[in-house]
Amino acid sequence: SKLNPTIFVIFGGTGDLNKRKLAPALYNLFTEGYMPEKFSIIGTGRTKFTDEKYQQVILENVNEFSRNGKVKDDSWKEFGTNVHYSSTDVTVPETFEGLKTDIEKYQKEFGPETQVIFYLAVAPNFFPLIAECLCKYKLTENEDNSRIVIEKPFGHDLETAKELNLLLSKIFTEKQIYRIDHYLGKETVQNMMAFRFANSLFEPLWNRNYIEHIQISVTEQLGVGERGGYYEGAGALRDMIQNHLLQLLCLVGMEAPISFDANEIRDRKVEVLRAMRPFKPEEISTNAVRGQYSKGWVEGKEVPGYRHENGVDPHSNTESFAAVKFFIDNWRWQGIPFYLRTGKRLNQTSSIITIQFKDVPHHIFSSRATETWQQNRLIISIQPEMSIRLQVQAKRPGVKMVLNPVDMVFDYKGTYDTDTPEAYETLLLDAMNGDQTLFMRGDQVEAAWELVMPIINTWESKKSLNFPNYPADSWGPEEAEALIARDGFHWFTLP
Ligand code: NAD
Repeated sequence: SKLNPTIFVIFGGTGDLNKRKLAPALYNLFTEGYMPEKFSIIGTGRTKFTDEKYQQVILENVNEFSRNGKVKDDSWKEFGTNVHYSSTDVTVPETFEGLKTDIEKYQKEFGPETQVIFYLAVAPNFFPLIAECLCKYKLTENEDNSRIVIEKPFGHDLETAKELNLLLSKIFTEKQIYRIDHYLGKETVQNMMAFRFANSLFEPLWNRNYIEHIQISVTEQLGVGERGGYYEGAGALRDMIQNHLLQLLCLVGMEAPISFDANEIRDRKVEVLRAMRPFKPEEISTNAVRGQYSKGWVEGKEVPGYRHENGVDPHSNTESFAAVKFFIDNWRWQGIPFYLRTGKRLNQTSSIITIQFKDVPHHIFSSRATETWQQNRLIISIQPEMSIRLQVQAKRPGVKMVLNPVDMVFDYKGTYDTDTPEAYETLLLDAMNGDQTLFMRGDQVEAAWELVMPIINTWESKKSLNFPNYPADSWGPEEAEALIARDGFHWFTLP
């Protein structure tokens, strides 16, 4: 690999994210030949570990969570010797002294081209502290060779996001800052760009003249599980819509970029957010629906309601479900609703984008022929199924003219026999390559917060009186159905 030697410093090196995602991703990149020739992974945390002990921990993590199954001895040996540990308490700046010494040791060994990537896989209240310590110990002064990767959530609201951006901008240049939205690293999400801008077929139809409405639906069967403490202060709007769902909306709604340049693409995306119609307080109740699950049965087991989950206030008004109807006020999308919904403890785990096209202008077939009539739809399934389906009408075989909808399917499994990498593999490699295309720029994050703030403020000022309002294993509150039914549509699910 032609990558410069890299030192990867992971704050939160003993945490859940590193265990399940980062460590397996780095190992998989290594086995597939994508890591630089010289690299060092330095995990940090408050616990004291020797390098050997930490290597053992990482080996167990990789064995448990890698998509490729257990490690192979020979490749582990080589990878493992590059794994190190440096104990750091981010609330005690002096402990960065030791980290600096470790970093400098590998910098000397690897040479002047060495780049250092600081990955902040810790609670967000530590982001400013770490950034300030990195500055104090002069660890990020070389703007070509040092980068910082920031996990979600980026801010708790518009004001805190702005504060964090301001603080980061005093220490780093924007090209050093990698704000992660791991949805953007997903294979199917990246394919949206290829699909839209490498085909001539769709672009002429991709506008208000041919599209009737668009749905973006990210549903989960799981409840909050062990994340109750965090989720309680966030809710579905902050946890999912402000970042992941709005990013998907940008990919569907953006104008064609003139090149595949990171800032060019991010410019086109932020333009979508800027064109989105802001809500007035009185418009929120008709355009946004919130929900919270009660107990129910999932696969024969009783599961608790949200208010009875660990770390959750028994009178909580935090939403575990949100549905919002947005408009983009520009020439392409004027008048076309974008319906977004997301929630936990729903009936199905799936992330799908549905583009529903307008009906044919004139029906020539008899009503008997068209009993199962359905307008054309394009369904992009992000996970767990990875596919793109174009639903069209066809004649059912037989002596009579009877129509029914059929799917033209591009299915990843059937088309490619290679495994798709995990989002974190793609994103970590991009960070090493200095490619910011799939990372959020500061203004994107702020524009997204600006859009959702009126909803957050209204919801927080008006406590919901009807929570919980949907049972576990359902499709969410009835009001979410009503939100879309008022316009004559319904939420789509995969068969
Ligand atoms: P975690 O609680 O499992 O890990 C936190 C880490 O921070 C631990 O390694 C801990 O040792 C370290 N830490 C705590 N206090 C410290 C201190 N004073 N000094 C030094 N280190 C300290 O959290 P997590 O689930 O790994 O999440 C980390 C970040 O990643 C959060 O911002 C979270 O929102 C984000 N994230 C996590 C996931 C996930 O699947 N876990 C997914 C997406 C985003």
